[in-house]
Amino acid sequence: PSLEDTLLAAIRTIPDYPKPGILFRDITTLLSNARAFRRAIDELVHPYAGQKVDKIAGIEARGFILGGAVAHQLSAGFVPIRKKGKLPYETVRVAYSLEYGLDEMEMHRDGVSPGEKVILVDDLIATGGTAAAAVQLLRQIGADILAACFVIDLPDLGGRDKLEALGVPVRTLIGFE
Ligand code: 5GP
Repeated sequence: PSLEDTLLAAIRTIPDYPKPGILFRDITTLLSNARAFRRAIDELVHPYAGQKVDKIAGIEARGFILGGAVAHQLSAGFVPIRKKGKLPYETVRVAYSLEYGLDEMEMHRDGVSPGEKVILVDDLIATGGTAAAAVQLLRQIGADILAACFVIDLPDLGGRDKLEALGVPVRTLIGFE
């Protein structure tokens, strides 16, 4: 089957989660499907195979699962980007706006060294607000961001354009309107 058919069959859609009117794209069914999980990771990494990639930065929480697999495949290190208050060592922090109000995310200040080549990973890009904040965080500590990779794009919400305007190439595997 094609990549698109494989992903379409493996991603579950939950109506009205977490709120009425939202169609939530659930990737736990993709993760639990061995062939689909492997296929998604292989497709995410293939443009970067053979390139020097120092670190994968994964966004809490689904970006940890995908990012860990991507890091292994590219022989790169993994760095978690977390909601505030979860990391034990000294952090750098960035505030970003959610639908209602502000939140903050952080990473360890020694997670990436200046000049290191980093790929950002999360499961899905919608408005791009989360990923743009992660880009800001990584650049605060001098990372050279090669790309941002997501399994799912919601193109109507403009996230790709937002990241590309920041100079970050975006790779996604499937789009849902
Ligand atoms: P954004 O900041 O681009 O608007 O939202 C993307 C963030 O929200 C990502 O961290 C992503 O995991 C989460 N997210 C938003 N909608 C969905 C969805 O339908 N499915 C999944 N799996 N995550 C979502």
